[in-house]
Amino acid sequence: MTFFNAGVPLARALAERDYTTPTPVQAAVLSSDTDGRDILVSAQTGSGKTVAYGIAIAPTILGDKERMGQAGAPVALIIAPTRELALQVERELQWLYRYAEARIVACVGGMDARLERRKMSEGAHIIVGTPGRLRDHIERGGLVLQKLKAIVLDEADEMLDLGFREDLEFILEATPPERRTLLFSATMPRGIAALAKRYQRDAQRIDVAGGERGHADIDYRAVRVAPKEIEHATVNLLRYFEAQTAIVFCNTREAVRHLHATLVERGFSAVLLSGELSQHERNHSMQALRDGRASVCIATDVAARGIDLPNLGLVIHADLPHDAEALQHRSGRTGRAGRKGVSALLVPAMRARRAERLLAEAGVRAQWSGPPLAEEIRKRDQQRMLDDPLLKETPSEEDIALGQLLLGERTPEEIGAALVRLYRARLPAIEDVIDPGETRDARPPREGSRPDKPQRESGGKAPRAKSLGGPAIWFRLDIGRNKNADPKWLLPMLCRKGDITRDAIGAIRIFDHDTRIEIAASAAAGFAANMRRPGGDNIRVEQLDGESGAPKKGPPPKDHDKGPRPAHGPAKKFPPKGQKAKGGKSA
Ligand code: AMP
Repeated sequence: MTFFNAGVPLARALAERDYTTPTPVQAAVLSSDTDGRDILVSAQTGSGKTVAYGIAIAPTILGDKERMGQAGAPVALIIAPTRELALQVERELQWLYRYAEARIVACVGGMDARLERRKMSEGAHIIVGTPGRLRDHIERGGLVLQKLKAIVLDEADEMLDLGFREDLEFILEATPPERRTLLFSATMPRGIAALAKRYQRDAQRIDVAGGERGHADIDYRAVRVAPKEIEHATVNLLRYFEAQTAIVFCNTREAVRHLHATLVERGFSAVLLSGELSQHERNHSMQALRDGRASVCIATDVAARGIDLPNLGLVIHADLPHDAEALQHRSGRTGRAGRKGVSALLVPAMRARRAERLLAEAGVRAQWSGPPLAEEIRKRDQQRMLDDPLLKETPSEEDIALGQLLLGERTPEEIGAALVRLYRARLPAIEDVIDPGETRDARPPREGSRPDKPQRESGGKAPRAKSLGGPAIWFRLDIGRNKNADPKWLLPMLCRKGDITRDAIGAIRIFDHDTRIEIAASAAAGFAANMRRPGGDNIRVEQLDGESGAPKKGPPPKDHDKGPRPAHGPAKKFPPKGQKAKGGKSA
């Protein structure tokens, strides 16, 4: 299907934006069955519904004409729950109706009401606004609805949730009874059905969600975090995915403020959106995100409801949403109009069951894992640096001349290293975080989701054979329970210092005075060499056997496989009977 039946001026605006294929909700309203009728549409946010109702009202307000003509009292009214959403709708309709030459006026709470009134008095075709402000204008005589031909209620369920029922009814009552009524709602609770029954006539029901909830283009992640590491995990998620734009949701204004300050301090270009900001400040935040001056937005649910930011590739739930609907609404900021996105929930162990329930209720499956670790982010940074378009750009003559000057003064290695430092200096620091592991309370859901890293702590059956699969080499660290050895901090330390990934580490066995770790043979040489480098931790590492030998022939007693043992009880001897650990070279 094409936008051919959207009418000449709208089709032209759509083509200019390279919108060639209608989304399902747009295709539905373009089909002839909806001509002139009321419609009741359940469509997720991000489905292209703004353009859909823009197209749907065109035959009613334009008829066969190509231009709207002289503006007087409005012929169409769009009502949206929040200021941001209303302003966004206004922007979207401005370009869509550009060639139809529609005059569009926004009326939203927090903006200059007198200016809005003046604009309306000069004539408008379409008004877009929030319920409270629209009602004000109607009551004061600034908004006259006698000529209205179409009214659209956008995110109607949200408007009811926000307590706008009375305002909506007041506005609907003030419109001519023969108007068309278009109801758009992500969900269809009883309140919406009642509204539809009372104010719509013979409405055509359109359900583009097709029963499937959630966005196919959103990759859901449930990230286990230690409760005190929410902010650090947020930093690492932002650094790992490095989305052009990301949004982080918190449940309170205080949490938004705090996280915003933390991220700015770390060097992120971050803005915030919460109810305590003035409309001017909120507009400023949105503008910074739109024009790329800011790449991270920290927000509360209500403030960020329905907003559409270009290239928003990552949603982080620093606090779990209150319910499945909020989860979907938050997540729906990404994965819009066919683009891909990630929605990551940060889940402390005690909230794991709630997270599972939320995901199940929302009908989405998440991949469970620990937070991105420093070494994983460094690897990604390295790849991003190698792929940086800067390196592939054709240099200007001046650049080449300067480059040659540099080459005369410095070796290529020095110049390369300086470039790496410059690249790194732009990046906010990575945090050292731990994967708190899959505890009894933090099980991943049984089906379809699994942690993507092996678990070693808290009774996790050592996945040695599974995770390492091939030959392995044992190393000994000269710290044990006496020095608080714990896989929680040992794992990230070994990965970082030994420059290996978690997958290269098998069993970790902690004894009173030392710890034995199993490293995949393929990574062992590099690991040993890296561990030999001086570091601040003073932990001595020695190799126990040259090959995959000892532990493979006959594993030590099972309870040794279980990571940290209870503080009481004697540590069993290692290596087990019949396996003599060689006193290997010091690494
Ligand atoms: P909405 O659901 O109205 O918030 O729209 C989500 C985003 O998709 C907006 O940025 C729209 O401009 C964009 N969009 C709408 N329709 C199309 C289309 N047919 N092709 C590509 N993008 C679209």
